[in-house]
Amino acid sequence: MADVRPGVVTGEAYRAVIEAAKAGGYALPAVNVVGTNSVNAVLEAAKQAKSDVILQLSNGGAQFFAGKGYPDAHEAMVLGAVSCAHHVHLLAQKYGVCVALHTDHANKKLIPWVSDLVGHSEQHFERTGQPLFSSHMLDLSELPLDENLSLSADMLKRMARLDMSLEIELGVTGGEEDGIGHDMVEGADNSHLYTQPADVLAAWERLNPIGHFSVAASFGNVHGVYKPGNVQLRPEILKNSQDLVERTAKTGKNPLHLVFHGGSGSEPEKIAEAVSYGVFKMNIDTDTQWAFASAIGTYVRDNDRAFRFQIDPDDGKPYKKKYDPRAWLRLGETGIVARLQQAFEDLGATGRSVCA
Ligand SMILES: [Zn+2]
Repeated sequence: MADVRPGVVTGEAYRAVIEAAKAGGYALPAVNVVGTNSVNAVLEAAKQAKSDVILQLSNGGAQFFAGKGYPDAHEAMVLGAVSCAHHVHLLAQKYGVCVALHTDHANKKLIPWVSDLVGHSEQHFERTGQPLFSSHMLDLSELPLDENLSLSADMLKRMARLDMSLEIELGVTGGEEDGIGHDMVEGADNSHLYTQPADVLAAWERLNPIGHFSVAASFGNVHGVYKPGNVQLRPEILKNSQDLVERTAKTGKNPLHLVFHGGSGSEPEKIAEAVSYGVFKMNIDTDTQWAFASAIGTYVRDNDRAFRFQIDPDDGKPYKKKYDPRAWLRLGETGIVARLQQAFEDLGATGRSVCA
């Protein structure tokens, strides 16, 4: 097996992390981050769980990383992601954690964002022999399959030279993330939420000869957390896709690297079943947002006067220690750390790090 060392794992090392997860029957959480608070919390959580981890940025998260006040939104999305990547390269190694660094959904409009990020990885590769990111995602699931696959193939050709991986989407993940996705209509025919195994086979035939890729297949998964009963998770779709590729392309078992989007709010049994069919990555965002926010919300309610007065008008008590952002941002971080321990457990990843 390739050397897997603390820091950002890319290329062969990243593939070794994926293969270890699939062989070991576990998956890694892929946590959306928006700033150093969430990045550091994920590093702390992975260290505590003795697990490897995946960190990712949505286009909105990347822009937020650079600052919402930055005048050029496209540039902010690029620079924010680059800034985050440098932070993670430096800190993950020092924390002693192996991190795969991804970007999340990019539809056709956002291809220039991914393209500019690959450009930054090309420069970084020149200097260091490593790309900035382990993987980017193109979500072209709104387009006809052939257009989805040919645009994905073009991007993968460029990324494969840097030993980067591409995540694609087939079928449609319900719900919406950063303006990408589909509204859930209650009681509607949600058949488009289920990926066709034949489409997965077409993707394999097109992309596998070019480079490493993973597939976000839709099996009723939904971004965000909704009232139960709206959509039925059908993980057997993943199994059918694996079986079709295995039979047709004469590969070993579970040849596809599958990604579970919309993991927040899912039942542990369905998560375990999906993982048994070759899911190595489960995206989690809504539940860690909630963990961050609810911890801070409780603090603000309990210390309400410290958020209204610098000095208490009744007894002259100074509140500096209470309103210091470190006091309550830290609680948000520990909220994420605690919630992720459950995610590592649900995915069977606790104690399974292959990081040496
Ligand atoms: Zn997603």
